[in-house]
Amino acid sequence: MTTAANSPAPADVLSLSESELELQARARKFADEILQPLEVEAEMNGGHLPADALKTIKEESLKRKLSGGLHAAEHGGNSWTHVEWFLVEEQLGRITNAVSWHMPTAYNVLAHGSPAQIEKYLLPGLRGETHDAYAVTEEHAGSDPSGITTTAVKDGEGWTINGEKWFVTYGDVAAVFIVMANAIVDGEPQGTLFLIDADTDGIEVVDNPPFTHTYPHGHPTIRFNDVKVGDDAIIGGLGGGDKLQQDWFSEERLGIAARCGGAMTRLLEETTAWAIEREQGGSRIIDYQGVSFPLADSAADVAAGRLLGLYTARLADAGADPKLIHAKSSMAKLFMSEAANRCADRCLQIFGGRGYMRSNVAERFWRELRVDRIWEGTSEIQRLIIARSLERRGVERVIN
Ligand SMILES: Cc1cc2nc3c(=O)[nH]c(=O)nc-3n(C[C@H](O)[C@H](O)[C@H](O)COP(=O)(O)OP(=O)(O)OC[C@H]3O[C@@H](n4cnc5c(N)ncnc54)[C@H](O)[C@@H]3O)c2cc1C
Repeated sequence: MTTAANSPAPADVLSLSESELELQARARKFADEILQPLEVEAEMNGGHLPADALKTIKEESLKRKLSGGLHAAEHGGNSWTHVEWFLVEEQLGRITNAVSWHMPTAYNVLAHGSPAQIEKYLLPGLRGETHDAYAVTEEHAGSDPSGITTTAVKDGEGWTINGEKWFVTYGDVAAVFIVMANAIVDGEPQGTLFLIDADTDGIEVVDNPPFTHTYPHGHPTIRFNDVKVGDDAIIGGLGGGDKLQQDWFSEERLGIAARCGGAMTRLLEETTAWAIEREQGGSRIIDYQGVSFPLADSAADVAAGRLLGLYTARLADAGADPKLIHAKSSMAKLFMSEAANRCADRCLQIFGGRGYMRSNVAERFWRELRVDRIWEGTSEIQRLIIARSLERRGVERVIN
């Protein structure tokens, strides 16, 4: 087994196997043929697409075995390695307007469910029949989730849940909420995840605000008023919520890095083509350094960030120390999300006035990539995690 101290040589990182290359090409074809043609229509319709388009996305992604990736094949996923998943996420990251959100998916937490929870929530999610939503953040607990005040109090055979969750992605369409609450046991709070059916009495959508991006689903504020659930609503055990959440963050941060890489690649392709074609002042604009150097800087950014992300995925597959993967995922997310924002801004500028039109890919990415510096932990929080890891695990382990 490869460990953190004995990690794969960097030269191995990008030597993709035949099957990895085939999967990458399959995902690219799906993104190009099925998803990309729908972007502008989604943008012009508040993020929404007609029912036949949604049906095609679902059916084609299942048929081409491109959804549910890391989840086990027996549950409807594809049992991918982290590298395989990273390669697919990169291709999905090429697409704006979260058109890929219509592919069947389910949060990784659900894989830790009981057989009954898996049957009820995970399997239909991966068949594309239902959505789940992850509710951790609160009005006064964002970067520091330990400050949550949502409580679960033992009530006879079950629990009574009270609290309010903010920014609940998919909250407007979810069939089930994965809710982080302080289960009060002997007077002490224990961070615990509860699966709560969206149609349970006492659940109230108190706000569904518009956000910068034009996405299909919202991020509403949801209040849980004396919501009653049974013991069987707990996932990951009483007090097991923090550990599951940590695993979720690690994975999702690497996914953000991958998708930002895909976005940067697409931006570079489209902007380079434009800069070669566009002439002003008697020259192609790419011949002006004011245009070509920002492209060069972005190319260097994506090439470097991609190596870091893929290397982290390889280490995760090789069974490296999860704490190290956590730090490296933070580095990959920090670097790629910041780089992707720089890249989108540069590309918008190179498109000139056209870059400010919503039909332009650079304009859409310029708005959409902004949240990648905020969700799943802000850039500042990633820096705190990396710095703490430097102290605890040593510089050499963190950067190699
Ligand atoms: C579109 C969208 C979708 C989201 N989806 C979900 C979801 O599905 N489920 C969910 O639970 N949450 C979700 N979130 C919430 C998201 O994870 C939080 O917004 C994020 O963690 C930041 O928390 P906050 O907004 O409360 O900002 P705050 O924590 O209040 O931070 C404000 C500022 O202070 C900085 N800051 C805070 N603490 C420190 C520190 N110790 N050191 C340095 N700087 C610091 C932050 O970096 C930030 O710049 C979503 C957010 C958005 C915008």
